[in-house]
Amino acid sequence: MNYLWAAATHTGRIRNNNEDAFAPEASGRGPGPVVLLVADGMGGAVGGEVASRLAVETAIATDGTPADRVVAANRRVVTEAMGDPHLAGMGTTMTLVQLDPGGQAHFAHVGDSRAYRLRDGQLEMITSDHTVVAEHVAAGRLSYEEALTHPQRSMLTRVLGINTELEVDEFDLELKEGDRILLCSDGLTNMVPDEQIASIMGSRTPEEAVWTLIEEANRAGGHDNITIVVVDVVQ
Ligand code: CA
Repeated sequence: MNYLWAAATHTGRIRNNNEDAFAPEASGRGPGPVVLLVADGMGGAVGGEVASRLAVETAIATDGTPADRVVAANRRVVTEAMGDPHLAGMGTTMTLVQLDPGGQAHFAHVGDSRAYRLRDGQLEMITSDHTVVAEHVAAGRLSYEEALTHPQRSMLTRVLGINTELEVDEFDLELKEGDRILLCSDGLTNMVPDEQIASIMGSRTPEEAVWTLIEEANRAGGHDNITIVVVDVVQ
C-alpha cells in the first residue's frame, strides 16, 4: 500500500491574510508512516496566523500518537499566548491523520476543520464539528440545513490555545486501495456543498482535486481562507 498526497492553501477572495496552516506543503508519495494535518487559526491582528503555524510546527516535531501531537501543539500555543499580550486569545483548530504502511489511519481532531473519506463514490464526513451549532444538531434542536447558514456556525466549543487541558477526539480507520481522504478548513465546507465536494473528489488526481476544490470555494465567494489536503490510497 502506498499513499499519494497533495495539499494547498488559498487566502480566498475577501480576507487579506491567511490564518490556515497545513502539512506537508509539498505533494508526495510513500508507504507511510506519514502525518498530514490542517489547522485554522483565529484571534487578534496576527494571532491566528501565529497560532496555526506554531501548532503545525509543533505537531510535526512531536513524537508519539496523533493525540500526543495535538496535545503538544495545544501546550505550545497556550504558552506562547501567555507570553505575549499581542497574542492573547489566539487559538487554532487541528485535524490530523497519521497513515501507517498497513493502511491504518489514526486521526486526532479538535475544532471545525474536517476529515472526509471517499470510498466507492460515497463521501463520508468522519470528524465531528466542535461547534455550538453542531451540538444543537446532534441534540435534534436544529436541522442540518438550518446549521449550514446559522449565524453562529463558526462558534467553537473546543479549540487549541485556550487551556492546557484539552479533550481530543481520537479514532482509527482501516483504509483500502482506492480510498481517498480529504482534510480541509471551513473555508471549503462553508462555501461548497458536500454533494459538490463529493463530485469533485470522485475523479482527478489529488493535485487536481485540491485545486478544483479551492477554485469552487472561490467561485462561491471565497469568504474565508481555504486549505485542502487530499491523499489517495494506491497500490
Ligand atoms: Ca476558517
